Amino acid sequence: MNKQEIIDILSNETTNERLFQEADKIRHEYVGDEVHLRGLIEFSNICKRQCKYCGLRSPNNEVERYRILKDEIILYSKKARDMGYKTIVLQSGEDDYYDTDKMCQIIRDIKKLDVALTLSIGEKTFDEYNAYKKAGADRYLLRIETTDRNLYEDMHPNASFENRIQCLYDLKELGYEVGTGCLVGLPNQSIESLADDIIFFKELNADMIGIGPFIPHKQTPLKDAKQGDFWLALKVMALTRINLPDINIPATTAMETINPNGRIIALQSGANVVMPNVTSLEYRSKYEIYPDKACINETPEHSKNDIKLKIKSIGRTISNDYGYRNK
Ligand code: SAH
Repeated sequence: MNKQEIIDILSNETTNERLFQEADKIRHEYVGDEVHLRGLIEFSNICKRQCKYCGLRSPNNEVERYRILKDEIILYSKKARDMGYKTIVLQSGEDDYYDTDKMCQIIRDIKKLDVALTLSIGEKTFDEYNAYKKAGADRYLLRIETTDRNLYEDMHPNASFENRIQCLYDLKELGYEVGTGCLVGLPNQSIESLADDIIFFKELNADMIGIGPFIPHKQTPLKDAKQGDFWLALKVMALTRINLPDINIPATTAMETINPNGRIIALQSGANVVMPNVTSLEYRSKYEIYPDKACINETPEHSKNDIKLKIKSIGRTISNDYGYRNK
């Protein structure tokens, strides 16, 4: 699709059902009916950055900060592996405590568990990404958040838009499976820029795309902003499936947070991945990038069983492989 076609669909409410059905059909044809589960470990909520939308931004003094150290990360990873997860996702704020050596030790130990490993720990240098890759990391998630440069610069004080893009191309060059994505509904975000986001995903040839509605957090400068629209986020996701038919697309927790059936609706509109949390309750509530996160009161066992039942109830199956992109 060209930019104008994407804009037309994003601005037209009457075509929504057809769009979701078409995305579901393409998902079925290209990546099948299997849903990949990834076990998510949010291992540190300490962050040096100031992203205006995020509850973990460094100026927020009201959040109780935590760091999970290596041995405990490995414990959660083993537990996830034993529960049947084939991929572990390590996510955190940009926390410099985990230097290259510490990260590489964690990566090497997790890779001994016979799982695929995804990192989502922010902007690093080429050499750091290279070291993680050599230590065994397979995939990396780094959302561009928005391709509208002015909006990007407004949302991310003291950050460089060029560097975020450079990181994504560095990761590609190093042979990672690369995930990116955007927020939908940021203040002053235009429909045109959402179309540009999808075109950017395609230019990068991203292997995974995560899309979520923006949810205002009361301890951020955007506390009074309007929440992103569930259906608009779903449309961006469905259009992403149609334009990049063979990639992996998660039904995001942010979608579940603003719509009680959000993940299942997403799985029926182009998504084929779910990322349940595998850490204990104590940490989940503190990893508050946005408020009232879905599943925040569930144990890892509950999260897994609940989503398994829901996936089966819509006629889909749980994948038993690592869930790389099927090119
Ligand atoms: N520090 C890592 C991980 C960020 S958390 C990194 O920079 O990649 C993962 C994602 O949560 C972010 O990429 C962002 O898109 C999303 N997020 C953060 N705050 C949010 C909010 N208020 N509403 C919805 N999603 C949010």
